[in-house]
Amino acid sequence: MRVAIVGAGPTGFFLAASLFKSGPENLTVDMFEKTPFPFGLVRFGVAPDHPKIKNVTRGYQKTMDSPRFSFFGNVTLTEDGGQGHITADDLLRHYDRVALTVGCQDDRKLGIPFEDSKNSYSATRFVGWYNGHPEDRELNPNLKIKHATVVGAGNVAIDVFRFLASPHQRMAMTDASDHSLEALKTNTIEEVDVLVRRGAWDVAFTNPEVKELLDFEDVQFCFYPDLPPLDSPPPYADRTSTKNMEVFHELAGRRIENPRMTVNFRFQVSPKELRVDSDGQVKEVEVCHNELEIGETRSQLRQTDKTSVYPSQLFIRSVGYRGRPLAGIPFHQKWGLIPCDKKGRVTDLEGKVMEGLYVSGWMRRGPSGVIGTNKKDATEVGEVMLQDQRAHQTTSRRELESWHQTLLDGGAISKQDWGLLDAWETSEGEQLGKPRRKLVTLLEVQEALNKLKATSATA
Ligand SMILES: Cc1cc2nc3c(=O)[nH]c(=O)nc-3n(C[C@H](O)[C@H](O)[C@H](O)COP(=O)(O)OP(=O)(O)OC[C@H]3O[C@@H](n4cnc5c(N)ncnc54)[C@H](O)[C@@H]3O)c2cc1C
Repeated sequence: MRVAIVGAGPTGFFLAASLFKSGPENLTVDMFEKTPFPFGLVRFGVAPDHPKIKNVTRGYQKTMDSPRFSFFGNVTLTEDGGQGHITADDLLRHYDRVALTVGCQDDRKLGIPFEDSKNSYSATRFVGWYNGHPEDRELNPNLKIKHATVVGAGNVAIDVFRFLASPHQRMAMTDASDHSLEALKTNTIEEVDVLVRRGAWDVAFTNPEVKELLDFEDVQFCFYPDLPPLDSPPPYADRTSTKNMEVFHELAGRRIENPRMTVNFRFQVSPKELRVDSDGQVKEVEVCHNELEIGETRSQLRQTDKTSVYPSQLFIRSVGYRGRPLAGIPFHQKWGLIPCDKKGRVTDLEGKVMEGLYVSGWMRRGPSGVIGTNKKDATEVGEVMLQDQRAHQTTSRRELESWHQTLLDGGAISKQDWGLLDAWETSEGEQLGKPRRKLVTLLEVQEALNKLKATSATA
């Protein structure tokens, strides 16, 4: 059985592993990935200062090492085909089953005036920039400013805050991209506002991320309005929100002399408008204040007429990811996801199953859960892929191999190439005392590969 998986993130690897485990011995997996690199958001999303989480890739690498597994990086699923591109038709012709594990590539917007002005970004792109995603190489955010704003109450907002609040030497020990480390050297941010729509009991931060704030001992944390007392929690408070609140109180009670930076958690505010200077660069954010009505299961939010304006020369919104439509594949615009039945079989918008096509991971469920959540999802979809029948004659072995060769001739990165790149990145990193030094652009990758191949040919 021939399987194609599009998208080399955690879901793609969990799916491949589950198919190898439960499928027939002749099952092969060919994985196609638009960047030159495997591992999706583990490489391009997970915070550089959380290296342990990235150890999950050791398992993915084992899957990759299977002789039944092939990798084609720098290959994108689009409508038109052509060099470096493949189409859904190509895949459905050559393979018995095709799984789309492409994650959520785009971001949600706030829908406020001047949201796209200079130095205003989505966290999706900002995180991609500091993690060395090739598409975000040219973002070049200006950190030579005084006031930054991060909007959002989830862990990604805290990741962004930690990057901005880190001295260069702290991040230099990580696999953050070279260009972001250079930018950190120029960082003059004195104050960061974290804007949260609801109250301190309502945040979606997890405990380890909030506790980590205590490590920033030269940063003064302030909370507006004053934190609610610990001893009168709302009915929906749980262990996580209670522990978060305890840490918030500890941070609020800490008085730092001559702080390196001040962080203001501003609760119950929603950005209303960005204001820009004559160069179109963001300079202020106007917010409106919200009232909260505490309910049994959550708080209800009501916008008031009260507004405030805060300085903001760097504005980052972390309000969620959403799927990006794939040409030739149905897409549910409102949900930002590929429509599917309960088992992950792709359907058209009327619910009719498209034979041979499956979706799993963030693009199936939406951007929620931790890396491990995708394992259950992928295993479930893998079972259905093995059970389903498809009346379909795939192309011959020779046709498939010739198609693969066309992709490789067009610049696809093979798993042998990745082996060389991985070894180069880790050995360069080792010399600098960090886990890896990331290559970023396709040009860098090609130059490195040419050198590495020339060296191994003469050795
Ligand atoms: C900023 C951030 C930090 C996170 N931190 C953590 C954490 O610390 N711990 C944790 O457990 N979880 C974390 N997560 C969540 C975790 O990363 C996700 O659960 C997981 O990556 C989703 O896996 P996926 O394979 O569905 O999608 P992805 O990881 O996004 O992988 C999708 C892959 O598909 C590729 N692709 C997309 N379109 C195409 C196309 N047209 N053709 C070919 N390839 C394509 C992409 O390049 C990508 O490699 C974080 C998420 C984010 C955004």
